[in-house]
Amino acid sequence: MLAEYAVRVQESRGRRYPEPPHPYRNDFQRDRDRVIHSRAFRRLEAKTQVFTRRYSDHFRNRLTHTIEVAQIARTIAAALDLNVDLVEALALVHDVGHPPFGHAGEKALDAAMRRHGFFFDHNLHALRIVEDFELRYAAFRGLNLTFEVREGIIKHSRDYHAGQFPELAEYLLDRRPPLEAQLIDMADEIAYNTADLDDGFEAHLLTLDEIRAGVPVFERFYREVEPLYPAAIEKLKFNEALKRMLDHLAGDLISNTQARIRKASIRTLEDVRAFAQRLVTLSPEVEEERRETKQFLSQNLYFSITLDPEKSEAEKVTTELFDFWMEHPEDLPANYQDKASEEPLPRVICDYIAGMTDNFILEQHERYYRSS
Ligand code: MG
Repeated sequence: MLAEYAVRVQESRGRRYPEPPHPYRNDFQRDRDRVIHSRAFRRLEAKTQVFTRRYSDHFRNRLTHTIEVAQIARTIAAALDLNVDLVEALALVHDVGHPPFGHAGEKALDAAMRRHGFFFDHNLHALRIVEDFELRYAAFRGLNLTFEVREGIIKHSRDYHAGQFPELAEYLLDRRPPLEAQLIDMADEIAYNTADLDDGFEAHLLTLDEIRAGVPVFERFYREVEPLYPAAIEKLKFNEALKRMLDHLAGDLISNTQARIRKASIRTLEDVRAFAQRLVTLSPEVEEERRETKQFLSQNLYFSITLDPEKSEAEKVTTELFDFWMEHPEDLPANYQDKASEEPLPRVICDYIAGMTDNFILEQHERYYRSS
């Protein structure tokens, strides 16, 4: 049973190239499956989320992070009677535009582009992947995804203004995205704020005492858990507290969104689109807890000096390889050299680098830059 304000697949604005219906999968299910079978999706497995493989093979990479976001997003969508198929497609595609080496790689790629008057944006890059770079079908380039999935790729995490991005005009930039897209960004936040505490703790970059002192919402649940399991080892009490924290964030997101929908008298998808703000939000108190958690992770994990050597290496490799190909475009693969006759060279190099896995960019750096 879908809510009145959910996206209905029968009312989709459709695909760029019309295709006959599938006998037993609807269009959003097919989009989800197209994402899963794409190259960009498989490459997420070898892209850093926060920790490189140096730490351990059981820490999150971009693929396992993506699967966790999909799990959380599906649960929230089902509780809100939203379109779970669309939500799943959007969650699985939400990070395919990320370059190698996590945030450090993204920063370096953006900086390299800016030196040539361009910039890098992972949402815009994801759209280029699904519209153009994936080559799977004889009849068209890209994955030919429905409008709603493409719109969600662009609008799930931020707003783009038509004046600055005329090429995105078809995505109704002056209107809010459906709730299915709005919830992806929050599911992403919930997933990484909890997962990064977990991986940071296991990597011994964060201690239990630091987390308890710096993350009040975690501390509250830890105090609740301690007397229940006095004999349990620390890590299991940690897990129990973290699990409750995740439930608390997801539960608050569901109840606060329901309250906002009621208060704003939202009845239809049109009402969602016309409403001035996003409706999928945490309550003010829990939003503050989320902010405190994120700030703790920034200060103690993302900007921890232990991760500095890897971040500088990521920046160096990305920047040097970019600059190398700017000077030696003849060393790019033939298909990228062809593209450079139609598009500015920095854009072509950026597209090539952004698609790389951590391993592949290191190999390329070894082969071209170090040997040059
Ligand atoms: Mg993400």
